[in-house]
Amino acid sequence: MTADDVTLDELPLREDLRGRTPYGAPQLDVAVRLNTNENPYPPPPELVADVTESVRAAAAELHRYPDRDAVALRQDLAAYLSVSTRVPLTERNVWAANGSNEILQQILQAFGGPGRSALGFEPSYSMHPIIAAGTRTDWIPAPRRPDFTLDTAKAAELVAERAPDVVFLTSPNNPTGGSIPLEDLEAVLRAAPGLVVVDEAYAEFSSQPSAANLLDAYPATLIVSRTMSKAFAFAGGRLGYLAAAPAVVDALQLVRLPYHLSTLTQAAARAALQHAEQTLASVARLAAERDRVAEALQGLGFSPVPSDANFILFGRFADAQASWRSYADHGVLIRDVGIVGHLRVTVGTPEENDAFLEASKEVPR
Ligand code: PMP
Repeated sequence: MTADDVTLDELPLREDLRGRTPYGAPQLDVAVRLNTNENPYPPPPELVADVTESVRAAAAELHRYPDRDAVALRQDLAAYLSVSTRVPLTERNVWAANGSNEILQQILQAFGGPGRSALGFEPSYSMHPIIAAGTRTDWIPAPRRPDFTLDTAKAAELVAERAPDVVFLTSPNNPTGGSIPLEDLEAVLRAAPGLVVVDEAYAEFSSQPSAANLLDAYPATLIVSRTMSKAFAFAGGRLGYLAAAPAVVDALQLVRLPYHLSTLTQAAARAALQHAEQTLASVARLAAERDRVAEALQGLGFSPVPSDANFILFGRFADAQASWRSYADHGVLIRDVGIVGHLRVTVGTPEENDAFLEASKEVPR
């Protein structure tokens, strides 16, 4: 018997984790990868040079632990948010972690957990219920309209009735693409007895103002979650953050692991943020491409769901899984998000989008 022979069944795994499969889109080595909503444009050479120089300088200090509270990085993030949302924020309003997934996990570690519940409107980001499960927070799935929009009056009613400790609202919503206007968010905020997390991973692509505009009105209720993985073209850097009342940041410091953000991550993220304007110049280009791709899909007889993000959910397919495989056989990797008859495509470069549209003419429907 070697260590390799032990199976998961033989381990004293938590009963509630038995039989589960790990989250993860297939990472296939194909020419056109449009499956994880990344920015298709690599960082510009000046950013690469600055990140390299910052990391080189930081490496000389690697015998020391990083700044546990990442204050300088939080100041930079607060400055970026203040400019882009026009809501004045300081580092006291901002917390950062290794991707917004870790932010969401810390929120449920502090505000969810055994005996508590979190509610989300499905279909939405599938990590919300998975993080709930990992923190043993009861998950309450709530419906959207058949066209995937949110019926906010019904949503507010349900939130008041079920009284979850945490509500997740994703705007723009992954995988369906629609944003929630501020007045609709407010209906849910007014009804929520606990926290409302607005997951704004794709906010830079959206035509709607950020929920950060509502922080002053709902300071004990609202958390706005953000990431550098999408518009910022920094998915590999792993940097997520939030905007909230300083007391929320105090709460998350009770559950975060000490030194969770490495010296290298902090240095690289700060250098990347210096180039925000340049990186975010791709946002308008991607939004225009999104609209071109949606129109072309429509022209091919598909039904794209209106999107305010850098991806498009579209149908209909008789067998979405078979069609997904056919796209992969054509060298185009997109995403089967488990919605009957639908697939999701990330907006890429014009060349990648053309390859996707060409394949769309040939895949089975
Ligand atoms: N929220 C949403 C809605 C997402 O789509 C994603 C990434 N797929 C995340 C959060 C997490 O991204 P990250 O951990 O890279 O910040």
